[in-house]
Amino acid sequence: MPIHYDLHSHSTASDGTLTPTALIQRAGKQGVDVLALTDHDVTDGLEEARRAADEIGLRLINGVEISVTWHGATVHIVGLNFDPANARLQAGLAELRKYRAWRGEEIARRLEKKGISGALEGAKAFCNGQILSRTHFARFLVAQGHAKDMRKVFGKFLTHNRPGYVAGEWAALADAVGWIRDAGGQAVIAHPARYRLSATRLRALITAFMECGGEVLEVASGSHSAGDVQGMAQYARRYELLVSQGSDYHGPEQSWLELGKMPSMPEGCIPVWTLWKTEQEAKS
Ligand code: AMP
Ligand code: MN
Ligand code: MN
Ligand code: MN
Repeated sequence: MPIHYDLHSHSTASDGTLTPTALIQRAGKQGVDVLALTDHDVTDGLEEARRAADEIGLRLINGVEISVTWHGATVHIVGLNFDPANARLQAGLAELRKYRAWRGEEIARRLEKKGISGALEGAKAFCNGQILSRTHFARFLVAQGHAKDMRKVFGKFLTHNRPGYVAGEWAALADAVGWIRDAGGQAVIAHPARYRLSATRLRALITAFMECGGEVLEVASGSHSAGDVQGMAQYARRYELLVSQGSDYHGPEQSWLELGKMPSMPEGCIPVWTLWKTEQEAKS
């Protein structure tokens, strides 16, 4: 049986709805052998996830999904298989969470001007205090009847040019990649087709990413279409990037996504895990 990898997922430590323990247990049931927990700008879920993973014999890869601003675009850089105790990485993530907290207040102020009060408290009621994400605002707004579902609420309030949107000032690309590498991990451009960059901009992003030591492109993502996967595989081969795959699972509410489920990887791609020793090899 081939080993089943899912290298992109979220827990209640960021904007997922399952606790790290529940996430690991579900991954096990879905036949995932190797899971990376990649919460947004925080690694606090890893410890609990590790205990749960050890219990059921699933291999957990330390992960994080770092918010980056690159030439005005928000880009997500996933870090895999790093040391979460690394001080530089943690200092960088702490800065991002400070910005997140301020941005949350700013989102609430802007919604208040549109007649929606109590959004900060409302959003916080949907998160466990680790990080405050637009997803938490979205859940609050849907619960209050301001939009029908999560997709609509983003389009109405939380994306570019909408009343609750705050243009990002996230980490610099070189910093995010640098922190991950400093902590001994691999940097991955997450769901590259989702940014809807022109071919020229995507090539520029990949070039800049590689110049600062990035090695991996997330080719097979739960949020990529079959065409996206083929297109991104071509970039990976052309630039000789390693590839990664992940569901980007956030919880059972997104019924179209499941742990361990993502499009299959096209031929001729070299997965990031070829760099990783198995636990047995590491011990011997
Ligand atoms: P933030 O990092 O706080 O700006 O929030 C970004 C998160 O919001 C992403 O990680 C997704 O989980 C979620 N998200 C972004 N856009 C959408 C959308 N159009 N529909 C549903 N969820 C979205
Ligand atoms: Mn998310
Ligand atoms: Mn993302
Ligand atoms: Mn994600």
